[in-house]
Order: sequence, then structure tokens, then C-alpha cells
Amino acid sequence: MITCPNCGFNNENEHTTCWQCKAPLRGQSQGKRVKGTRDIERALRNEKIKCMHGLFRVHPCEPCGRGQEEAAQYQHSTEQYGMDVLLAAGVTTDRTQALQLIRVILAQNKPA
Ligand SMILES: [Zn+2]
Ligand SMILES: [Zn+2]
Repeated sequence: MITCPNCGFNNENEHTTCWQCKAPLRGQSQGKRVKGTRDIERALRNEKIKCMHGLFRVHPCEPCGRGQEEAAQYQHSTEQYGMDVLLAAGVTTDRTQALQLIRVILAQNKPA
């Protein structure tokens, strides 16, 4: 069983991408866990893409006074930044896949 580093879903061993969120479960080498998950989490905590309340800037934040419109302006830069983080961590070498993955991460961290 492989636990998805992105959503925590428990996948069958033969799966290379998460059944639930389609995040890559491991790199090229067999049986190795995705490396750098901690690094990714740390990098994604960067104030460039998150406000002091721990919310991604692409989401509105009331204490910050960041509305829907302002939040939308961060979409592109946040995706680019997140993509670079995932690529640098070696989660994937495919920019399209990295973009999809960061979009999943952003969507999952949407405030309730
Ligand atoms: Zn997943
Ligand atoms: Zn905030």
C-alpha cells in the first residue's frame, strides 16, 4: 500500500499515480517513495504564495482583506512558483504534470 503524499489516499502498490488525486506516487525508480515531500511542504509555506494566515494567496483571506478579485491575480504566479517547487524536488520532470499537481494542491487547500 502506498499513501499518497498529496491527499493521503491509500493506493494499491502497483499504482504509480494516486487513484484519487492523480498525484505521482513515486519517481522513476521502483518502490521508492516520492522524495522531498517535506521540502515541498516547506517550500509551499513560502510567504510569496501564502499569507501570514497560512492561506494560499490565490484564495481570499478576510483578515488580510484579500477578496476574490485580488486573489485571482495571484493565480498565475502561484502556479508558476509551485510548478518550479515540484520540478526542483524531482516529483515530476513534466511541466504539465507539475502544473496539474499544483492546481490539485491549491484546490485542496481552499478555505472552507
Ligand atoms: Zn492523492
Ligand atoms: Zn491572510
